Amino acid sequence: MSKFVGSDFYDVDSLLTDEERLVRDTVRRWVDDEVLPVIEAAWRDERLPMELVRGMADLGLLGVNLEGYGCPGMSSVAYGLVAQELERGDSGLRSFVSVQSSLVMYPIHSFGSEDQKQRFLPGLASAELIGCFGLTEPDHGSDPGGMVTKAVDRGDHYQIDGAKMWITNGSIADLAVVWAKLDGVVHGFIVLRDDPGFTAPLMKGKHSLRASVTSELVFDGCRIPKDRILPGVTGLKGPLSCLTSARYGISWGALGAAMACFHAAADYAKERTQFARPIGSFQLVQDKLAWMLREITKGQLLSLQLGRLKDAGKMRHEQVSLAKMNNVDIARDIARMSRDIHGANGIMDEYPIMRHMANLESVYTYEGTHDIHNLVLGRYVTGLSAFV
Ligand SMILES: Cc1cc2nc3c(=O)[nH]c(=O)nc-3n(C[C@H](O)[C@H](O)[C@H](O)COP(=O)(O)OP(=O)(O)OC[C@H]3O[C@@H](n4cnc5c(N)ncnc54)[C@H](O)[C@@H]3O)c2cc1C
Repeated sequence: MSKFVGSDFYDVDSLLTDEERLVRDTVRRWVDDEVLPVIEAAWRDERLPMELVRGMADLGLLGVNLEGYGCPGMSSVAYGLVAQELERGDSGLRSFVSVQSSLVMYPIHSFGSEDQKQRFLPGLASAELIGCFGLTEPDHGSDPGGMVTKAVDRGDHYQIDGAKMWITNGSIADLAVVWAKLDGVVHGFIVLRDDPGFTAPLMKGKHSLRASVTSELVFDGCRIPKDRILPGVTGLKGPLSCLTSARYGISWGALGAAMACFHAAADYAKERTQFARPIGSFQLVQDKLAWMLREITKGQLLSLQLGRLKDAGKMRHEQVSLAKMNNVDIARDIARMSRDIHGANGIMDEYPIMRHMANLESVYTYEGTHDIHNLVLGRYVTGLSAFV
């Protein structure tokens, strides 16, 4: 395959700062050199390559847009570009960074006590500590407000009982940011791996996000000290604000997967000959490639402007819903079209396409399903909620 040089039909590069371009190019090179040679085998083996986690920490990619506590404090656009480049490698790596940065470091940074920030953030930034985020339960996915995991104040400690499911990084995490109801109100708690009554069994057998760890979290009379509650937030706005930050990154990340599939399809269409002509010369194939370019270009402009709004403090969660929903949707379609253009070859792991396609099924569902984001927009337009 030809060298990946990105897809930049509208000169989006000219809208980036020097620092943002540098971050993007650095991660792009790292993905070429370190990720692509190993990711297909890791995916097949259902294994998160831990050496890549260390590499991402060494590049300063964890908590990239947070200030202080060992974090580089870059722009949200830089964070988005990191997500884009990582997901061109694999959605599992981007998921790791989304969880660590937006779902673990962000809530501790925003809602944690000074002690909690000092104790956990530097280790999370350097990957000496790995975190996970426990919101979804076996019976409460799109409806997290129905959660049954509860915390009880036992005087000198909290006791947590319940279960979380589908938790990225769960079994390898040193700490979990867990959302549970205390006296009927949602609160965030920091649970450590060795806390009594806590286990995190691995979920095996995924056909998607295989280079990512997915686990259950089980709390059976789990005891944690009182100073592990996040003091700065109550209610669902705690976990939802984390998800808004992660979903913003996903809108960029999905473009990375889409670019990988588009790049593969454009290359293949120029090389593969049928009826004594390159298949790229047929109008039906060109129509598919032109559609891919069109949708990637629109998606880039969506995410870039969203990032600028985020940095200006003007981003609305409905805008994030639109970008997450749109960009994952088009990435999923681009992956399928790319497989189609590759014909039978497209099903082989010599090409990255089926891996991206399978990964994108999870990305379509997690962090708010496509349908729920659609309903968020429906509510924004009509003022009427179809889902709560
Ligand atoms: C690989 C992977 C990693 C994940 N990582 C994490 C993690 O780290 N932490 C975490 O907390 N969670 C995680 N999740 C869970 C994820 O966020 C949930 O899967 C997601 O919220 C959807 O919940 P559900 O799977 O229970 O589906 P459901 O909520 O049961 O939805 C099933 C279907 O019903 C539709 N639906 C539901 N309600 C409505 C409605 N009112 N109107 C119309 N349609 C509706 C949905 O759109 C969907 O199509 C992960 C999931 C996966 C697959």
